[in-house]
Amino acid sequence: MTATAASPPAPAAKPVTVPTAEAATTPTAEPSPKPAPGELVLSPVKRSGLADQMKSGLDAPICLTWELTYACNLACVHCLSSSGRRDPRELATEEAEAVIDELQRMQVFYINIGGGEPTIRSDFWHLVDYATGRGVGVKFSTNGSRIDAAVARELAASDYVDVQISIDGADAATNDAVRGEGSFEVAQQAMERLHDAGFSGFKISVVMTRHNIGQADEFEAVARRFNAELRLTRLRPSGRGAETWHELHPTDAQQRRLYRWLLDRPEVLTGDSFFHLSALGEPLPGLNLCGAGRVVCLIDPIGDVYACPFMLHDEFRAGSVRDAGGFQRVWQQSELFAELRRPQSAGACASCGQFDACGGGCMAAKFFTGIPLDGPDPECVLGHGEPLLDAASTRPSPAPDHSRPTPVTFLPRKL
Ligand code: SF4
Ligand code: SF4
Repeated sequence: MTATAASPPAPAAKPVTVPTAEAATTPTAEPSPKPAPGELVLSPVKRSGLADQMKSGLDAPICLTWELTYACNLACVHCLSSSGRRDPRELATEEAEAVIDELQRMQVFYINIGGGEPTIRSDFWHLVDYATGRGVGVKFSTNGSRIDAAVARELAASDYVDVQISIDGADAATNDAVRGEGSFEVAQQAMERLHDAGFSGFKISVVMTRHNIGQADEFEAVARRFNAELRLTRLRPSGRGAETWHELHPTDAQQRRLYRWLLDRPEVLTGDSFFHLSALGEPLPGLNLCGAGRVVCLIDPIGDVYACPFMLHDEFRAGSVRDAGGFQRVWQQSELFAELRRPQSAGACASCGQFDACGGGCMAAKFFTGIPLDGPDPECVLGHGEPLLDAASTRPSPAPDHSRPTPVTFLPRKL
């Protein structure tokens, strides 16, 4: 995929294959067509068996996120990786190719590429081609700024590349308050181009905040209009989100409405990110567990490997792809990942009747809000997180920070 050469005509849109965990454990040499990472919709029986298997870790991650660069033309106030400026130590093209070779050997069947804005890297399209040419499917997240008509046609013509366009509001005012002025228009143009090119089933990804959660129906309508799939994810206090989370995270009443809304719509993708809501009753689709270091991990732009994309902090750095033994050694032998794969203490949640459903929630959300890792989730739907949030005297600072020097400010709209 050159993204500059004349594009072949777009074929009829291909069906989206939703990978199951079985597919991840018995991979083939072929990449998964248009992958939808981590979007598991399973029966309760299958779910519990797989959950047990995954708690102790797999030979290769199911959901590997690779942030190719910290460079970004936007400055979203909740950016999980505090992106903006490129890190001069970024992996070189040959190093990135070597990582892909390794992932192929490990039979990782797809990767999520993000950033920063990954398309800013001059070798981005080459690396996408390199991965798909070796049987590693790619889904990349973008703010849409580099999706012109020719790129959209090339993407539509590929069986093995999926695209996720990020918006955080169903209108410009709501979106731009978080993602910056003009960003809604840019994302909308990208979605129109993908749609016009015949790309069916690309993803529209929304981080749920106090300000956009009431627009869930509108997001659904946007996805329908573009023949796309809607993906809603949870706001975590990671990166610049650590500063804005307290202002932006949904209220308890909003969480409860979202839970019912999601239960009615199992087709809406969530990356299993709202599993703490399963404490409200019927479990949401997915494995309902924290997969950090077990099925999930992150490779950052300089090759450091973290337990999860939302845990960019030294405490959750497991090693580097630049170390001897590369990524495989980190994934299979790092002390941190071995520790995360051991049975975890239920801690303060032990006496909660909903622990089996919610597992105590998200480790990253606890860590960056200053709640002990064996405490309840800060957004515990039974209200057990709030006293701890109030009591937390220190909160770890997310690192690294690649924000540009210009201040990033949230411009709230009137609700
Ligand atoms: S720490 Fe949170 S975001 Fe990361 S894998 Fe666990 S639940 Fe998911
Ligand atoms: S107390 Fe813990 S296990 Fe119970 S609902 Fe809250 S976070 Fe989940």
